[in-house]
Amino acid sequence: MPMSRIRYTLNEAVGDPREWSFTWAILDDVTWSSACGFCGQTEQRLTYEVVRAERVLWICQRCVGRYPVSGTLDGQVLDSRAVRAHIHGLTARQKQRTCHDAIRKVQAGLSDVSLSEVAVYFDRNLQLSPQRAAVLFSAMARMGEPIDARIFEVQTRSIAHQDEFGSLDEAARMAVWPALSPQQQRRLASRGYAPAGARRNARIWERRGPQVNIAGACMPALSDPASLIPETE
Ligand SMILES: [Zn+2]
Repeated sequence: MPMSRIRYTLNEAVGDPREWSFTWAILDDVTWSSACGFCGQTEQRLTYEVVRAERVLWICQRCVGRYPVSGTLDGQVLDSRAVRAHIHGLTARQKQRTCHDAIRKVQAGLSDVSLSEVAVYFDRNLQLSPQRAAVLFSAMARMGEPIDARIFEVQTRSIAHQDEFGSLDEAARMAVWPALSPQQQRRLASRGYAPAGARRNARIWERRGPQVNIAGACMPALSDPASLIPETE
């Protein structure tokens, strides 16, 4: 897969990243519209609070993976490996909590019995099957909730899940499609399951795709759902 050639640089005011420390606060933006205080990247989901003296910035996952920001836990200075391990754990828990809360919010707003099943399924699997994703995403659209469907991981690795996606009607597949990574979309398209409407919007998916890929390429442990939650074939 071709890597993005866009170059990102630290804002001049940042100086030496080692002088900054994590507070361990994470902001999970379900509208995917946060910006990074280090590199200036916009349209971020997860940002991490870092401080230097009285200055506070929120930085993106990519910068977390790239720069040796300091971290202290229980009065002990962590090495960069321990910093990343701690961030990794916090991130995984934050993502789960965010998805759990988003489902509960939609559930509370609509008296739809099928959403209870989606909630139970998510809490058990920490991911959504294509059919559950379709139920949830169409409910989110009915409620007008400004939640980006990409916060959810949709299972497409197994043939059974691919076929489940393929068995959905066009509207349901279109509802799920934007939540899929470019790799997932390619896999489903190769099986003939891409919704017809996706071809019309191909440019939008392509524009969105690299945003997700850049973070994934630099810090796969944080952004690759498969590494957080193993999915059986
Ligand atoms: Zn950044």
